[in-house]
Amino acid sequence: QGLLEKLTLSGSQRRSRFVDFTRHPAHQQITIMREGAQRLGVKDPFFRVHEGCAGATTRIDGRECINFASYNYLGLSGDPRVNQAAIEAVERYGTSVSASRMVAGERPIHQALESEIADTYGVDDAVAFVSGHATNVSSIGFLMGPKDLIVHDEYIHNSSVVGAQLAGSKRIAFKHNDMRSLADILEAQRPHFERVLIIVEGLYSMDGDFPDLPELVSLKNRYDAWLMVDEAHSFGVMGSTGMGLREHFGLPGHVVDIWMGTFSKTLAGCGGYIAGSQALIDMLKTLSPGFLYSVGLPAQVAAPVLASLQILRQEPERIVKLKLISDYFLDKAKSKGFDTGHSLGWAVVPILTGSSLKAGQLSVELFDRGINVQPILYPAVPEKSARLRFFLSSQHSYEQIDYTLNNLSKIWQ
Ligand code: PMP
Repeated sequence: QGLLEKLTLSGSQRRSRFVDFTRHPAHQQITIMREGAQRLGVKDPFFRVHEGCAGATTRIDGRECINFASYNYLGLSGDPRVNQAAIEAVERYGTSVSASRMVAGERPIHQALESEIADTYGVDDAVAFVSGHATNVSSIGFLMGPKDLIVHDEYIHNSSVVGAQLAGSKRIAFKHNDMRSLADILEAQRPHFERVLIIVEGLYSMDGDFPDLPELVSLKNRYDAWLMVDEAHSFGVMGSTGMGLREHFGLPGHVVDIWMGTFSKTLAGCGGYIAGSQALIDMLKTLSPGFLYSVGLPAQVAAPVLASLQILRQEPERIVKLKLISDYFLDKAKSKGFDTGHSLGWAVVPILTGSSLKAGQLSVELFDRGINVQPILYPAVPEKSARLRFFLSSQHSYEQIDYTLNNLSKIWQ
């Protein structure tokens, strides 16, 4: 057969000639997980299709459910004003900026959004990336190198770990939120490295707890390290007006060297940002691969994020309501005897189930009763820390929470 004929084989012939990826260890791992779930009679709770906007409620399989699985913390995704901003942007700019920002992808909305973010932190400037995950991978990978040390909380998000791997730096995890553990590592390791970066999250999305920012700032100063805070879940959630961890502790923006956040949670969009000094932002905008060699944020994503930021400033009552709802959920869950781990009542409340099997089964049974909540299973967390993870929204009602926790109590046994 000639090369052309070989390349134009019919569908079934082509399929049989694919490399056998089922022999890849990652595929074997998936197979073991699926078979295990099937043997235990747990229906797959993942990749459920949401047929509309996912907020405090959502439509799945044609059925309206109470939803605790989305990061739409303030109900801004789906807000008519936010939708309108996207519509106007798409009508004006089309659906893609069609190039890297440096080349031909720059639009006025990019700078408007970045200066609004910089203002909220009270820092020099900010830069917006097309993905939150890529923001961490690219920024950490670009800023740090093989002679450096990255010390991070053991529960840090995968995107920061991958960024650290890309940097080729030595990477050490400190015990979750344990400042003594961090101090011990810094004390022992600091002299051996040129630069040291400490990475933490503003609010941990598995546990709903947060770090001691004043203590982190004092440690980073004492050991001459840089501090990076990932505010994916804390921005728009913590602080009396939603300005995040900084506002919660009443600290100025410049105490942290690298503020990072995502647009995909409270801000009702997609993408991520870094905010900080002018020199930091200039470097990232000019040279970091995930920004330079990637397309600019589409205008119809940047515009609703900017609109969400403005609504956040104008309607602080959303933050107040989110806190009330979170506290109500946490208190009620505790009073029913559930183990809510370290949650401090800011939008994220886990209920630990003791095993992946139980978490999976409870999720499926709750779904049958019109409640959508994701199980977090091993290996995402250690087996005994498997859990149902509840994301609260300012749009949830007290009745929805009563209904959910009463049903969970009934089916728990
Ligand atoms: N950081 C943290 C702490 C996250 O939880 C996530 C994703 N949930 C990301 C970064 C990546 O953000 P995105 O999903 O917007 O890419």
